Amino acid sequence: MAHASPAPGDEWRSPLMQDALERFSAAADALALDDELRMRLAAPRRSLAVNFPLRMDDGSYRSFAGYRVQHTLAMGPTKGGFRYAPDVSLGECAALAMWMTWKCALMRLPYGGAKGGVRCDPGTLSPSERERLTRRYAVELLPLIGADRDIPAPDLGTGEREMGWFMDSYSQHVGRSVPGIVTGKPLVLGGTATRRTATGVGVVHVIAGLLERLGSDVAGSRFVVQGFGEVGATAADRLHALGGRLLAVGDEHGATAAPDGLDVPALARFVRDGGRLADFPGGRPIAADELMSVPCDVLVPAATARQITAENVERVDCRFVVEAANGPTTPAAERALGERGVVVVPDILANAGGVTVSYFEWLESQQGAHWEDAELASRLQRRMRTALETVAAVVEQREVDWRTAAMIVAVGRVAEASRARGVYP
Ligand code: GLU
Repeated sequence: MAHASPAPGDEWRSPLMQDALERFSAAADALALDDELRMRLAAPRRSLAVNFPLRMDDGSYRSFAGYRVQHTLAMGPTKGGFRYAPDVSLGECAALAMWMTWKCALMRLPYGGAKGGVRCDPGTLSPSERERLTRRYAVELLPLIGADRDIPAPDLGTGEREMGWFMDSYSQHVGRSVPGIVTGKPLVLGGTATRRTATGVGVVHVIAGLLERLGSDVAGSRFVVQGFGEVGATAADRLHALGGRLLAVGDEHGATAAPDGLDVPALARFVRDGGRLADFPGGRPIAADELMSVPCDVLVPAATARQITAENVERVDCRFVVEAANGPTTPAAERALGERGVVVVPDILANAGGVTVSYFEWLESQQGAHWEDAELASRLQRRMRTALETVAAVVEQREVDWRTAAMIVAVGRVAEASRARGVYP
């Protein structure tokens, strides 16, 4: 039997890539992009899939799959985090790399998108296994990365510690210290204090700007946050500090709710001391999947992809969904929300604060410069507000939803650059 030959892009297929392509097509249609540009932007530019052995603490060896995907080289070096999670795959990295391209373009950062990761259960790795895994992954990526080629950063399951090991391993291999090879580094290696909280802080700038446009305010508004990692916990903390009421917060283990609002600083201390959200004495435990149906003004999914789906969207009861995670709403769920008048503020706008401060950190590393935290914080706020206003203007002018508007801006910029560069040879 004859086999159909695979189409360009088939290698990177995944459910998340399907979501990414659906969004890309909508923007490409709105921009009336020609077929050549669609073809060039719909598939990643290149990727690396590796398989490497790791010595475990008990002396045994296990093999791990790792990936790095670069979506476009048209905008400058590529940029994006790497994650440690059990479901990491080439197709997932490809989708997330494409997401990074649009995010960077929307924020006017001089990067194309990239994403990587290692398929593992990070919770089961000891600190020394995690260190060896990170160092080996860094070295596996040597053919692709560089401070002016592809600059990794933290993502799900990775943070400052991993960035320190990554930077050291890369530097050992090239024979000199290269702080610009990663962002999200420890402060002492040239990181910024602002980077760790930047994504969550950026989410809150977007929420505040959005509510302001509607004559409303964070103070007194009701919020539900899914995810209590770096992003969710920071967003919850800032919303609470601005007088917002956090009605419920959850993670993969469970959730806690309080009708008058949770005491977020107390909750953060409780979790830092090893407590589970559902056991927090200041709240009532609710099931993790009940979280999405708590009525609120703003629902903030800040965990992982594909959380608001056709299956649970009917139960979602809010006015706005602000996507702090990457890809938390499936296209089908988003259509259902749109029909009910729920506004979805897309990830490429809402969570772009992280990569924006990464850009500032990278500039500092490349120039050997140091900027004050207050300077970075105000630059972040300005960039988030500018992007919000740019997208809001397109929403109004073209009468489209927020995602389509953000994608029209982002895809339009990347298409223009790709057109200007042309095709080699
Ligand atoms: N992993 C983050 C994201 O998804 C940030 C990437 C970066 O800082 O380069 O936006």
